[in-house]
Amino acid sequence: MTFATLGLIEPLLRALQTLGYQTPTPVQAQAIPAVLAGRDLMAAAQTGTGKTAGFALPLLQLLTMEGPKVAANSARALILCPTRELAEQVHASVAEYAQHLPLTTYAVYGGVSINPQMMKLRKGVDILVATPGRLIDLFRQNALKLNQLQTLVLDEADRMLDLGFSEELANIYRMLPKKRQTLLFSATFSDEIRQLAGQMLNDPLSIEVSPRNVAASTVKQWVVPVDKKRKPELFVHLMRKGRWKQVLVFAKTRNGVDALVDKLQGLGINADGIHGDKPQATRQRALDRFKSSDVQILVATDVAARGLDIEDLPLVVNFDLPIVAEDYIHRIGRTGRAGNTGEAISLVCADEVNMLSAIEMLTRQTLTRQMEPDFEPEHRVPDTDASGQVVKKPKKPKKPKASGGGGGKRNLGKWVDSGDVAPAEPSIKPVRKVPVFNTGPRKKK
Ligand code: AMP
Repeated sequence: MTFATLGLIEPLLRALQTLGYQTPTPVQAQAIPAVLAGRDLMAAAQTGTGKTAGFALPLLQLLTMEGPKVAANSARALILCPTRELAEQVHASVAEYAQHLPLTTYAVYGGVSINPQMMKLRKGVDILVATPGRLIDLFRQNALKLNQLQTLVLDEADRMLDLGFSEELANIYRMLPKKRQTLLFSATFSDEIRQLAGQMLNDPLSIEVSPRNVAASTVKQWVVPVDKKRKPELFVHLMRKGRWKQVLVFAKTRNGVDALVDKLQGLGINADGIHGDKPQATRQRALDRFKSSDVQILVATDVAARGLDIEDLPLVVNFDLPIVAEDYIHRIGRTGRAGNTGEAISLVCADEVNMLSAIEMLTRQTLTRQMEPDFEPEHRVPDTDASGQVVKKPKKPKKPKASGGGGGKRNLGKWVDSGDVAPAEPSIKPVRKVPVFNTGPRKKK
């Protein structure tokens, strides 16, 4: 199959040739004909599957072939994204695909001045990429009208809900013309997503290109157990040992990002960080420098790094595990993209065992553990497996007071380390079922 057989017009084929895209990815093969035929779409596709081109190429074609010229302060297509970085990235891809077409594209998001955006919208744009909050601001200030809108794309819809944008999405829904084409992309289909789709989509075609909630198989994943306080030291050790050249590192909090960047920079390591407290221009600069290899280590929170496409990223390190298990899939999806192989290493301390268990359950695999000599944790990380069980090691038995009886080795079942000596009365707690992490809407920051 080729892009030409999918029915794309020559100016798009020429742009794809320049970009070196030869064969459509599975999501593109399914989405392009359906969108060209005017269908609504509900697509389960992770980042890295080529989903952006999957919606952007047919969208550009329809806008070129059909519909009136864009009016002042209007947009003919709207692509909603959860974060500023993703909006910029999607916009850059759309602009590349549209390079031979007479269409205008623009991206708007918060964290930067609204006035230049209002000025730019005066003439109208064919394709507007936007984050939900700024879109509403522009609409309320009459800088944008949506009555000419032909197509709405919800990109990373699950993430928009995770970030607490459900109210904004409901508001935007009320601003839209009833007659339109709507395309929804989401890494996973939760109940909330299905509800949103039920409201926004009209008889959608459902496509799923990767098994639900299963991380990309091209990524080699493993866990290094370590005590929490020794994580920075272990990171530096692994980095030097593995001669890491370009690493995206995830930390749980903004403070965690700053502390690790300070520590690395203090050691003369070329590191930078991105998180929600940093001004947009600083975030974008750090990202650009990382992409161009001017920065070796980029430390990020989940919010800042979601959906970023960095070509050939060989390694992702989870300095902290994510609180929401599904974020693990998004994080490691930064590597092993478009058929390349990648590695994802997680530094896990005893406190994080429930998160590890939730990730293993979600991805239906038990992550391999690799102890690093000299970094074996004092606080042991209990055993976990893909069934969601955390297996507590029995406490060390007290020495028997009297001689005879109870001191020998006993087999207490598969969860007992072979070197353990069982107490006379085994103190093993029953295997505990771990609660699955709440993946519902989070509070907006
Ligand atoms: P996405 O999932 O949209 O973020 O795309 C992931 C990466 O795959 C991007 O760097 C795209 O440029 C690239 N890509 C998308 N489609 C193709 C294709 N058909 N052939 C080669 N690379 C592609």
